[in-house]
Formats: sequence, structure tokens, C-alpha cells
Amino acid sequence: MKKHNFYAGPSILPQYTIDKTIEAIKDYEGSGLSVLEISHRSKEFDRTMADAAALFKDLLSVPDGYSVIFVGGGASTQFFHVPYNLLQTKAAYLDTGAWSSKAIKEAKLFGDVDVVASSADKNYTYIPKDYVVPADADYFHITSNNTVRGTEIRKDFDVPVPLVADMSSDIFSRPVDVSKYALIYGGAQKNMAPAGVTFVVVREDILGKVDRPLPTMVDYRTHIKKGSLFNTPPVVVVYAALQTMKWLKDLGGVEVMEKRNIEKSNLLYEEIERSKLFRCTVPDPEDRSRMNATFLMKDEYQDLTADFLAFAAERGMVGLKGHRDAGGFRASLYNALPLESVQALVDCMKDFEAKH
Ligand SMILES: *Cc1c(COP(=O)(O)O)cnc(C)c1O
Repeated sequence: MKKHNFYAGPSILPQYTIDKTIEAIKDYEGSGLSVLEISHRSKEFDRTMADAAALFKDLLSVPDGYSVIFVGGGASTQFFHVPYNLLQTKAAYLDTGAWSSKAIKEAKLFGDVDVVASSADKNYTYIPKDYVVPADADYFHITSNNTVRGTEIRKDFDVPVPLVADMSSDIFSRPVDVSKYALIYGGAQKNMAPAGVTFVVVREDILGKVDRPLPTMVDYRTHIKKGSLFNTPPVVVVYAALQTMKWLKDLGGVEVMEKRNIEKSNLLYEEIERSKLFRCTVPDPEDRSRMNATFLMKDEYQDLTADFLAFAAERGMVGLKGHRDAGGFRASLYNALPLESVQALVDCMKDFEAKH
């Protein structure tokens, strides 16, 4: 039986992506070779890589002057690639959770870091709103979706310096005004592909401004110049990412996806709010993530936490256990998760409540 997959990452992918990748593993688009054994220098793969960058640009309406590249190392490698390429003297960071904290730690290796605000005082259960971004910072870094505690920044805002965003866990979940950002990066394994590739969208005019020498692989310009084929990319993963983007395009793109994500997350949050047993981890509905809904048993029902997980598991639901730092529950509602899975979870919560 197919499970209801609420894992936070790697996570659910469209069946289309899985089927197309299986086909390509057997025969890569009629080439007589498997995508597992095809050269990244072949003309077939060359087209896949070019199509992936082009479709990415198309889906997010990436303006002229920006490049889209696919690199290795995960978002965690971008935590130091970003300051390596952009931090000359000082950078500003918004601390909204575990991922931001890790990014801040790496940036400190390269220069001064001004943490303009932090929600650590309340276990990262809200998005700080009152802060000033210093005009002399080389850039301002945010994590748009905080996968662990379930908060999200959905507004593309103006700041006086280049804006950098880690969009690992909410890319393609809504339209993004890319022109507000100088750089957007993310691991692909939440909304795009299996683990193994990282996307970087970068406005070219911000590059080449730091004094330090850059190792070839760290320098974004290397990958821009070579169309993400300077070294061997994860061929199969890029192929899968392209299939997910085609699926998304066929569905109507990010506008349609946003509507679906609103519908899915509303359905779940409304049930949590209504429930006698559960409560939301994030108090302000504005700050609640559409990608990772976090919730807890109310204090008086705390001892039912494990029971609920077992009850849900019996009904084919996986990945609902909260992050080890957060406890409780987390239902990841990524793009590929169907509304039926959210409905099944809501029904499961109601049935569990009826028993207690
Ligand atoms: C998952 C995640 C990461 C870590 O990504 P890796 O590719 O495993 O390095 C970083 N930032 C955010 C927001 C994430 O959700």
C-alpha cells in the first residue's frame, strides 16, 4: 500500500517524477543507455541540464541578469559558499531557527556578522518583524521556511542591501518575486528531487566583489560559465528535478501550486485549532509554514503523543514525528503531497479524539 508520506526531507515526490526516472533508468529517452550510465558530456544530458535551468527560470519568472546553476554539497555547503563569494566586511542575518543558526556560524568564518533579530527567545516559534538591516552590510540573509519549527516568511520584501534566501523547503510552493533577491539557494530534496543537487539563483552583478581568492568550485562564476557542467553533476538527480518541474508546469505552475498549498495547510491548521487534543506550535497564523505544519498535544494530553503516532502509523501515515529538537508532531505538506493525504490525517486526528 502506498503510504501517506509526511517526511520533512527527503520527502514525497510526484509519481510522475518517479515514473519518468524509472523509465530513464531503463532507457534514457530512447538512447539505448540508462541515465545511470550516461556521460554528463553527452548531448542528451547537455540538453537535460539546459532544460532544467531554463524551466526553473520559466517557473519562477527569473528576470534577465540572473543565472540558475545546479551544484553539489546541499544547502549546508551554501552556508559557507555564500559568505565566501559575497562577504567582504560584514553581513546581516535573521536568525529564525536551526538552519539560520548554522548559516550564521559559517558566515562568521569570513567576517563580521550582524544578527539583526532572533526568535531563539521563544524556541523559534515566530518570525521577528521589528529589525533594521544595516545599509553597510554586504548582504542580508534569511531562511524563508524554517523546516524544524514550522515558520515561514512568504513576503518578498525590500531591503537596502542584496537579499539572500535559503529556500530549501519552500521553493516552488508559491510565486516569488525573484527581483527582490540577489541570491536564492536550496537543497533539492524537499520540493524538487531526490537528495544530491542544490539550486542557486544568482544575480550576476553581485559576484566578483570580494578580495579573497576563491577556490574554483566555490566560485559561482565557474558554474555559470560552464552551465553547471564544470565537473560531474548528479546526473540522475538533475533528470528527476527536471521531471518535477515539468509536472509543476503542466499543473499550471507556482500560482496553482500556491492555491493548493493554501488549501492543504488551511485544512490541517483548522483541524488543529478546532481539536480538543492538539494545539499549534506557532501561535501567529501569519507565521505558520504551509510546508511544515508543527503541532503538539495540549499539556493535559501530553502522554498521548506516542499513542497518536502509533495510531497514525496503523493508517499508513509516515514521517509525523516532530523534529528531535522540537518534539510533538510535524506534517510536511510539500507540493507533491495530495490533498487526500491531508484529509486522511485530519480524519485520523478526529477519530483519535473520539477515542479519548
Ligand atoms: C533541509 C534544509 C537544509 C539542509 O539541506 P542539506 O541539503 O541537507 O544541506 C538547509 N536549510 C533548510 C531551510 C532546509 O530545510
